Amino acid sequence: MADIIKLLPDSVANQIAAGEVVQRPASVVKELLENSVDAGATEISLNVIDAGRTLLQVIDNGCGMSTTDARLSFERHATSKISKAQDLFQIRSKGFRGEALASIAAVAHVALKTKRREDELGTYIINEGSKVTTQEPVSCANGTSFSVKNLFYNIPARRNFLKSNNVEWKHILEEFERVALTHPEVGFELTHNAEQIFKLPISNLKLRILNLFGDKYNNRLVPIDESTSIVTLKGYIGKPEYAKKKRGEQFFFVNNRFIKNNYLHHAINSAFHQLIEKNYHPSYFIYMDIDPSRIDVNIHPTKTEIKFDDEKAIYSILTSAVRQAIGKHNIAPSIDFEQETSFNVLPPKAHQEVKAPNIRVNKNYNPFSEIKQTQNTDFTFDEFDSEEESELIFHKEDEQQAITFESKSENQELSDSNTKLFQLHQRYIVSQIKSGVIIVDQRQAHKRILFEKILKRLNRQSTVSQQLIFPLTIELSATDIVMLKEIWDSLRTLGFDIEQFGKNSVVVNGVPYEVGTENCDVLFKEIIHQAKQNSNNINQKFNEIAAKTLANNDAVSKNKKLTFDEMEHLLSELFACENPYYTPNGKPTLKQFTTEDLNKMFD
Ligand code: ADP
Ligand code: MG
Repeated sequence: MADIIKLLPDSVANQIAAGEVVQRPASVVKELLENSVDAGATEISLNVIDAGRTLLQVIDNGCGMSTTDARLSFERHATSKISKAQDLFQIRSKGFRGEALASIAAVAHVALKTKRREDELGTYIINEGSKVTTQEPVSCANGTSFSVKNLFYNIPARRNFLKSNNVEWKHILEEFERVALTHPEVGFELTHNAEQIFKLPISNLKLRILNLFGDKYNNRLVPIDESTSIVTLKGYIGKPEYAKKKRGEQFFFVNNRFIKNNYLHHAINSAFHQLIEKNYHPSYFIYMDIDPSRIDVNIHPTKTEIKFDDEKAIYSILTSAVRQAIGKHNIAPSIDFEQETSFNVLPPKAHQEVKAPNIRVNKNYNPFSEIKQTQNTDFTFDEFDSEEESELIFHKEDEQQAITFESKSENQELSDSNTKLFQLHQRYIVSQIKSGVIIVDQRQAHKRILFEKILKRLNRQSTVSQQLIFPLTIELSATDIVMLKEIWDSLRTLGFDIEQFGKNSVVVNGVPYEVGTENCDVLFKEIIHQAKQNSNNINQKFNEIAAKTLANNDAVSKNKKLTFDEMEHLLSELFACENPYYTPNGKPTLKQFTTEDLNKMFD
């Protein structure tokens, strides 16, 4: 019998390798950005069109390549970064396997323009499915630009396997964030469909985090800094009270490379044990430096997983370092960032119980109904409608309420603290409580209240629909219609009385009781939009998503003067919630300051 073993042609071998390296557009982004960083670039732009389906382009001002190197860079196992096996154990650059470009070119159309500073002309190469179709000199800027088009054009299975543009875009953003967070010394720009998403100047780590996640992170983070013989830890952790339900701001870097490691994630979480609520996740940006010979980064082709020699020791170092950082912050708030705001108040201590003011409430009173309440069973004083009264009456009203309450408090045995309640800037409700003071954001609080109410009703399937006098025709895109079909029954349970009308529109005859007839088309679309964003297991999550959307839509505005009753009612409803402290989107509803906190500010 003849020999039967054959060597695979390169193009096939590359395609197989590509399966490991290039799983989705985001994988290309990661490889190209890392190559640019390795090339010593100080400015890197990433341009994305259609979440990478149409185009991914990375332009850098790095060292560029000679014509020979440009051609070689597409060969498998072609790398300038290691030359002997021993080097594998001392790797500090990003790439080293020399297969990224080969893999990308195997499954896409790649155009490369590159020029070294010392050369007059650069090189232009087009590589389509591992075949070089063009190679010519070109006059171009110093540095390198890779354009990747028609990704997976020759692997329909992969292409079909891609998720919605939203999901793919999210993955791209994640990769971008990871690289940007490891290289504050490099300026980055990101555009999507020609819209600028980020322009990150060269800076330091603190500013890079703020530039990526918003200035509000300025006082949400505390520094972590620990040096031992095994590892060095640096970075920032989020204060416990800013933990979020949503995961996503957990960044762990080893030797400046983003990695995932559940064991170490667990170490960090355990440091937060009992400081944050179940199912909430602390943010962290932790940078670990460790002798490369004590880790193996090579076990995973995309290199986000690594193995440590001293895993257990690292676990305990990490836990204790995080604990220490939290502890320090509890004694003194971090005054770490240069941009520290001048008025730095102490946030409430995590898990310190906030006592609900013990207030009597008129159960029949709907604080946000537009109709003026005429019957007032619980309160003896006259009601003033908040919207219509003049400043003058407002003062009078205040006075009257204060008086009424003082006299009421005697016979109702309400503690003195309950009577101290006022609105600040038409947005915050300030209330004295026994141990100090709470400040409630009226809109955030109302979101929480509505969310729980609506969710309960949805879960009990006891929603009410109100018929529209003029049925509404809503035009939808083809993808909206696909989603609509999936959530059709859920929408009907929610109270939307809908019929499909033609190919791309629906007729809405009735809407949920909560929605009201105004803006119901906008809201309807918003629910579909939210459903699309959460398209996995949508029907399981539908109630929560719908409740969130309705709550966000209906919550009282930030700029509404509330009457005393309305404020009282809001507070009592808030404290009747299962989770009064956060909105369904994880924003705080209230902040507490103990008298101790206040005293400390002035000592
Ligand atoms: P690796 O990064 O693992 O070495 P790649 O396939 O990603 O392998 O890249 C192959 C080689 O191409 C790199 O080692 C480098 O020499 C060169 N290269 C890739 N991208 C760039 C770039 N943006 N600028 C300069 N050289 C690059
Ligand atoms: Mg590389």
